[in-house]
Amino acid sequence: MGNIYEKKIITVTTPLLPELQIFNKSLEHIWAHKWITNGGPLHQQLENALCEYLKIPYISLFTNGTLPLIIALQALRITGEVITTPYSFVATTHALWWNNITPVFVDIDPKTGNIDPDKIEAAITPHTSAIMPVHVYGNPCDTKRIQEIADAYGLKIIYDAAHAFGVEINGKSILAEGDLSTLSFHATKVYNTIEGGAMVMSDESTKKRIDNLKNFGITDETHVIAPGINSKMDEVRAAYGLLNLKQVDKAIDHRHNVVLRYREALRKVKGISFFDDLPGVKHNYAYFPIFVNEEEYGMNRDTLYFKMKEQNVWGRRYFYPLISTFTPYRGFDSARPEHLPNATRMAEQVICLPLHHLLTDEDVERILKLVVK
Ligand SMILES: *Cc1c(COP(=O)(O)O)cnc(C)c1O
Repeated sequence: MGNIYEKKIITVTTPLLPELQIFNKSLEHIWAHKWITNGGPLHQQLENALCEYLKIPYISLFTNGTLPLIIALQALRITGEVITTPYSFVATTHALWWNNITPVFVDIDPKTGNIDPDKIEAAITPHTSAIMPVHVYGNPCDTKRIQEIADAYGLKIIYDAAHAFGVEINGKSILAEGDLSTLSFHATKVYNTIEGGAMVMSDESTKKRIDNLKNFGITDETHVIAPGINSKMDEVRAAYGLLNLKQVDKAIDHRHNVVLRYREALRKVKGISFFDDLPGVKHNYAYFPIFVNEEEYGMNRDTLYFKMKEQNVWGRRYFYPLISTFTPYRGFDSARPEHLPNATRMAEQVICLPLHHLLTDEDVERILKLVVK
């Protein structure tokens, strides 16, 4: 075995960064005007630009992608129990915990990794007030079925769309589904503002209410109408976000090409499966999860994962372990693995291969060599 230090480390992602010289120009502009936060002109500009890019009517920027989840639950006055997925980043369920809400985990559909709509109804109780699905890896949930169930039982829907930046179905934004959707602009996401996030809503009065809740509930100099929090995005990150928005399409194109090469090479590998594009969906290629079937592949996921790591190819086991196995949640009845067979299997089989805008052909072949046998 060669010296591992000879090999460049390939990480699962690398942040999309604006060109430093151009960002410096933005900083000079901010320094000259001295408006650095509290809904400044760049904040306004980024909201407008995102509405246009994402084809949505209203958006509210946040300081990260977790607070909009917490505030969405507050804004809709959700209480009691919320039906959600265990197959996500832990922030999804933490947002419920921070609102004193009991998560009710429902198993996923292995075809998408998303909550299985066929299993939602059985999880509804008199305490259920909402459904919080996740468009995991940017794969759209079955929004039509979920809406029908919500309508039949009088439930709200909040989509954790942290992975679904720019995802569309038949030319329509996935972010327009449900009552509210939230985005994360964290450094690891397909579009980033370093830390950052947003909430997407369909009407102006909701937008006003959300803007109020992210600024302490303050309406004017002498009025506070709600126990809001501070979750505003500052001007520096809004400037950074405006620059990144101009190059995100190019980054997604590059990711798409890598995904096409991955699929081509892995389609013939026995025991490795992955998602293909879904009909009518404009994907953002945020992640490339592969699933390792130990019997067919002849090696289990962790063996492959650590073999890659040893060769400085750092995939990530998104999402392993399942949220439902973590200490705060494992005591709930719905968290028992026997209720979540599909999620449990996916969590045990998944590796997200490196996928970002700076991967070279050489990197991709080096990664594939470790997986293709
Ligand atoms: C990244 C992520 C979040 C949280 O976003 P932050 O911006 O890191 O707070 C929430 N949900 C999911 C599914 C995520 O992947």
